Amino acid sequence: MATRILVTGGAGFLGSHLCESLLADGNEVICLDDFSTGSPANLEPLLENRRFTFLRHDVASPFHAQVDEIYNLACPASPIHYQMDALRTVRTSVLGAFNMADLAKAANARLLQASTSEVYGDPEVHPQPEEYWGRVNPIGVRACYDEGKRCAETILFDYRRQHNLNMAVARIFNTYGPRMHPNDGRVVSNFIVQALQGKPITIYGNGQQTRSFCYVADLVAGLRRLMASRHVSGPINLGNPGECTVLELARMVIEMTGSRSKLVHRKLPADDPRQRRPAIEKAHRILKWQPSVPLAEGLGYTIAYFERRLAGRRPAVREATAKHADGHAVITA
Ligand code: NAD
Ligand code: UDP
Repeated sequence: MATRILVTGGAGFLGSHLCESLLADGNEVICLDDFSTGSPANLEPLLENRRFTFLRHDVASPFHAQVDEIYNLACPASPIHYQMDALRTVRTSVLGAFNMADLAKAANARLLQASTSEVYGDPEVHPQPEEYWGRVNPIGVRACYDEGKRCAETILFDYRRQHNLNMAVARIFNTYGPRMHPNDGRVVSNFIVQALQGKPITIYGNGQQTRSFCYVADLVAGLRRLMASRHVSGPINLGNPGECTVLELARMVIEMTGSRSKLVHRKLPADDPRQRRPAIEKAHRILKWQPSVPLAEGLGYTIAYFERRLAGRRPAVREATAKHADGHAVITA
């Protein structure tokens, strides 16, 4: 029997790829989104599918449906977006977690919460294992997101303790790929768009801060593995442990695009974490999951996507879905 799956935030970058992957396996998908940072264009390839339903709804309000699984992804993810209306971000995370947990409880569904590496804050432990409690500034400009996500984790684990909720928490590390919003301010999309347009590449601070970038197809596969592991609650880190500095990323993008853009330095945003790399031994051991798309390969797909998009051509994300060497689907432009 086909599974009926609710994806909140399904019109966003990760959510739209997740919906596509779930539909491709014959599931029925209900996508719930308020289009605050997501876009109808992301759903275009899905709308013709009869097993796909879209509902415009804010997760901060209760929602009722009979579903088997819930992926709760609704939340702005880029720092400029989540800081634009910080109180709304907190509401989305906290009330969204309550509402989805209530729905999962009523429907007897399994709930997967999209958490984040931001729960580790500016970490003193490196790489970050799930056991690390983190170092978050609770009153800083990133707190609306970091503490909102931390509280969402608390809510889910308390629902499990008090109501025996079947739940899981995925701590997602920086993920990139086609369908990122060109103006959402995240580093990979910023650098690619700047390079393609021949504009200066904006390095915040000295560029020595590190991140570890995971390609979207790998991440979606990890989320699905976790959902399918019905007795696993986590939290489980999902990300690519290949770590690089922001400066190294900029140089890679310039080289791959053949751009003549110059580097310019801008002020480092407050509380910007200095280092980040996931420890993924737990995901490997429990989910048998690990990422397989190297940064250069994933950047190639992402650059091709933005080239088409900036040229005003419809990015052909779906048509060009290819098979990676190990057999899993890779989303290319
Ligand atoms: P995104 O901004 O592209 O997608 C978020 C989606 O949620 C958008 O479609 C937006 O319209 C929707 N949304 C926001 N508030 C809502 C609300 N109140 N009600 C209904 N819909 C709402 O971001 P993304 O990168 O796709 O991130 C998806 C999820 O994954 C988020 O929860 C984010 O915190 C988490 N995450 C992403 C990353 C990453 O690198 N992409 C890293 C860590 C965690
Ligand atoms: N960053 C940068 N230039 C940009 C955008 C981001 O140097 O144009 C830096 C940012 O300061 C951070 C890293 O890149 O150190 C990742 O930023 P992003 O907003 O993508 O994600 P997050 O900080 O949430 O990991």
